[in-house]
Amino acid sequence: MANLVDQMSAAESAKDVYRLEQRMLREMKENITDQCVQCVKCTAGCPAMKLLELHPHEIMALFNLGFTEELLRSEVIWTCLTCFKCKERCPQKVAPVDVILLLRSIAVARGTPPPAGFASVLQALMDRGIIQEPVEVMLKSVKTGKKRFSDRSGCSLPAASRPKDLEKFKEAFTNALVQAMSEEGT
Ligand code: SF4
Ligand code: SF4
Repeated sequence: MANLVDQMSAAESAKDVYRLEQRMLREMKENITDQCVQCVKCTAGCPAMKLLELHPHEIMALFNLGFTEELLRSEVIWTCLTCFKCKERCPQKVAPVDVILLLRSIAVARGTPPPAGFASVLQALMDRGIIQEPVEVMLKSVKTGKKRFSDRSGCSLPAASRPKDLEKFKEAFTNALVQAMSEEGT
């Protein structure tokens, strides 16, 4: 399904935008109404479950019941990490993340600015080429109960990947942002 914001330029008036929005909501509903069986597998695997105002399976249920405006006003559409775990786990091949991304697009198309955190993430990527520097985590021995801090290598993880040439990365990143903004403005 095409992104609503991408299609904004093709819409000639507010009425067209409204019709497009309604069509995309209708199509999404038709896709998931008979598919989501509320098995809760999406929620069980969601890494952001504790941070979300609503659990992923609840988002599906509310969307199916027509609570679109309430979901559009909820922080939940911005708190989702878009990790696509729910899509991977769903036995019915539907997923809360699809609904969340559609609602995000509609919110942006209606002029709702993304939360301030989104700008900080972009700035961190621009400055360091990585959203967050890895931090040490506390490990507890199952045998002795002893605790210790460990970095990634101590957890058998590879070093966090980051751009080899930060200046080139910044240039490509800036170009991509400028292009996205100019496409939105056309
Ligand atoms: S979206 Fe999929 S995994 Fe989640 S409750 Fe519905 S059917 Fe289950
Ligand atoms: S995409 Fe969002 S809702 Fe789905 S599992 Fe990831 S954080 Fe949870």
